[in-house]
Amino acid sequence: FHRSEVKMSGQKEVTFIMVKPDGVQRGLVGEIIKRFESRGFQLVGCKMMSPSKEHLEKHYADLKSKSFFPGLIKYMSSGPVVAMAWQGKSVVKTGRAMLGATNPLESNPGTIRGDFCIDIGRNICHGSDSVESGKHEVELWFGEKTEDYSLCTESMIYE
Ligand code: GDP
Ligand code: MG
Repeated sequence: FHRSEVKMSGQKEVTFIMVKPDGVQRGLVGEIIKRFESRGFQLVGCKMMSPSKEHLEKHYADLKSKSFFPGLIKYMSSGPVVAMAWQGKSVVKTGRAMLGATNPLESNPGTIRGDFCIDIGRNICHGSDSVESGKHEVELWFGEKTEDYSLCTESMIYE
């Protein structure tokens, strides 16, 4: 082990961030990407796609029993989404903080949901809720196809 490898290992954490169909329609793709980029996180996967209902049902499998589940799948398949994998130190927890609360009316101003939306069923973005689900969701949406590269600004972002 070189010291640098040990130091960098904590920065390899990944999260799955998705601009939902309403976020795409409302022209907020760039805004959401910009916030993660400006923070210093590293984009390692990005694609626009129209996921199948089956794929969305897998992604939201833990919510299957909820009364809003059919509406959620309908909303999520109403148009293309932008699926992204972001990497960095504590990116899962920090990404959730940047998104704000699930219910936008409970999201603080300054968060993505707190700045750009109102209804829980139109909350414009998704973010993984744990390190484990980050790994799982990136795998579900990207398979092996994320990029492995180092940012030339790394030593300006991490001590
Ligand atoms: P998230 O991790 O903050 O996105 O929240 P959850 O994993 O609990 O729920 C997934 C998504 O389902 C949310 O982002 C909302 O779009 C939707 N959702 C969650 N709870 C409700 C609800 O009570 N009503 C409706 N209509 N949608 C909900
Ligand atoms: Mg969730």
